[in-house]
Amino acid sequence: MANETDLMERIVALAKRRGFIFPSSEIYGGLNGFWDYGPLGVELKRNIKQAWWDDIVRRPPEGPDGGPIEMVGLDCSIIMNPTVWEASGHVTGFTDPMVDCKECKGRFRADQLFVVQFVSAGWEPQSSKDEMPPAITAAAVASTPEEAISLEEPSNTKLKAMGVGRAFHTRAWLIDEYRRTMADDKSLPEPPCPNCGAVGSLTEARQFNLMFESYAGAVQNEASKVYLRPETAQGIFANFKNVLDTQRLKLPFGIAQIGKAFRNEINPRNYTFRSREFEQMEIEFFCHPDDADRWYTWWRDARYAWYVRHGLTSDRLRLRDHEEDELAHYARACADVEYAFPFGVSELEGIANRTDFDLNAHQEHSGRDMTYFDEEAWQRDAGQYKAENYGGDKKAAKQAANEAKQGMPYRFIPYVIEPSGGVDRAALAFLCEAYDEDEAPDEKGEAQSRTVLRLHPRLAPIKVAVFPLVKKDGMPEKAQALYRACREQMTAFYDEKGAVGRRYRRQDEAGTPFCVTVDGQTNEDGTVTVRDRDSMEQVRVPSEGLVAWLQERLGRA
Ligand code: ATP
Repeated sequence: MANETDLMERIVALAKRRGFIFPSSEIYGGLNGFWDYGPLGVELKRNIKQAWWDDIVRRPPEGPDGGPIEMVGLDCSIIMNPTVWEASGHVTGFTDPMVDCKECKGRFRADQLFVVQFVSAGWEPQSSKDEMPPAITAAAVASTPEEAISLEEPSNTKLKAMGVGRAFHTRAWLIDEYRRTMADDKSLPEPPCPNCGAVGSLTEARQFNLMFESYAGAVQNEASKVYLRPETAQGIFANFKNVLDTQRLKLPFGIAQIGKAFRNEINPRNYTFRSREFEQMEIEFFCHPDDADRWYTWWRDARYAWYVRHGLTSDRLRLRDHEEDELAHYARACADVEYAFPFGVSELEGIANRTDFDLNAHQEHSGRDMTYFDEEAWQRDAGQYKAENYGGDKKAAKQAANEAKQGMPYRFIPYVIEPSGGVDRAALAFLCEAYDEDEAPDEKGEAQSRTVLRLHPRLAPIKVAVFPLVKKDGMPEKAQALYRACREQMTAFYDEKGAVGRRYRRQDEAGTPFCVTVDGQTNEDGTVTVRDRDSMEQVRVPSEGLVAWLQERLGRA
């Protein structure tokens, strides 16, 4: 298979060719960080969201004790009262460090801007002491030092123009680190802009807030300023009491939401991975503080298993526990489900124990009570507060009971475990994992290379394609009838144009698990050929039982 850069290019080309993903508003040159999902892409995304919703809200998995867990859904507005974002800390803290180029006006994330040192063309070490080459410095926007070095390979035309011959003793510093080193080592040159190459044009890093701003209503001033939500989670916290009061829920329980989120990312990159508009699938699972560690581990493992179940079975999928010093100040534990994309290892979903931080913050900013009263615990202990235990003093007993009810173990702010994933990143990982190239025989039986998307049947945009072998002998009519029967139960596609081998190939690229062909034998015995996308094996199935046959196999996967 191709190298990783090549592989990504092939996946992007396939996604465009088959109608999975298009650049947004492409006819006007597109818009950086925005993408459109085409006819196959929208089905893939809907299938991911549906699988998640069914597995999380409708039929949640059994909890650590083997009992059912309680989950409900929510669909909040994208624009909310801006105080939500003050309470959550986003107004002051949802920032990335940004570096500007004064020449080309390019903007870069300082924590992803590496300065790489390369060798001048023709330089050779003259002796064993002569280890460090004269520095030619280049800058690259990359997530890791390794990526930075690989981006700026000496074949790179920009480097060639700078007189760089080949990589030697390369090293990548984060720009801040490089500047600190520059202060000690005056021989180091100013870093160039990774976009235009201008030297000395990069500013110091400053904090840039990632929230998109707008105004609600006709008047545009500070009072009417609103934000497009940068995450769906805060809508869940803001509705915690509404859900609790209307749904007769008891701890532990979870609230789930799928919806759009917006972040004005400084460098949208890596295809859809870092977009400015994307969709999230988030769960806030509320539990007793004493149970939070157990629920955290359970959710972390359950969410990892969900990706494996849907086809991310290779060692490209990883679960990484955060080190203590990586944790946000309010988080007790955090893990990332990561995927080794062709462009690097990156996060698909984060699972965090956020303690009572969010509900506490909303209680403080809204003045509304965010506590939970554990009625069961109270009923168990209420007997302790009888008057006889207070020397017959009813008033004292009542007062003691009221005081006890105000705090632990009866009234408290629940802890929350948050599994927070992105639909677009999941879709991209499923596409990358599914992409494969192998060989298939053509009409003459000669092996030809084929591209196939081995998508999990639950996620595949089209479940079955139906073809007449040729456009005569009543085959199109029979195939049409079967196509209509299939379409009642699953996404189906009808195609009668061109050689059947080529029709198979198109469906392989679309990830369609089964192709059904009506052929000469159908007229004789009523059976059709069903071809399996992955094994390319063909079996004959009676046409009357075809839909049930397909449903059984699609459901079983
Ligand atoms: P990153 O560090 O990669 O920017 P994050 O840690 O800021 O991600 P979270 O705030 O935890 O991400 O958001 C939860 C999920 O939302 C992520 O795991 C990811 O799947 C998705 N997500 C976040 N930002 C983007 C984006 N710009 N484009 C696409 N998906 C995103």
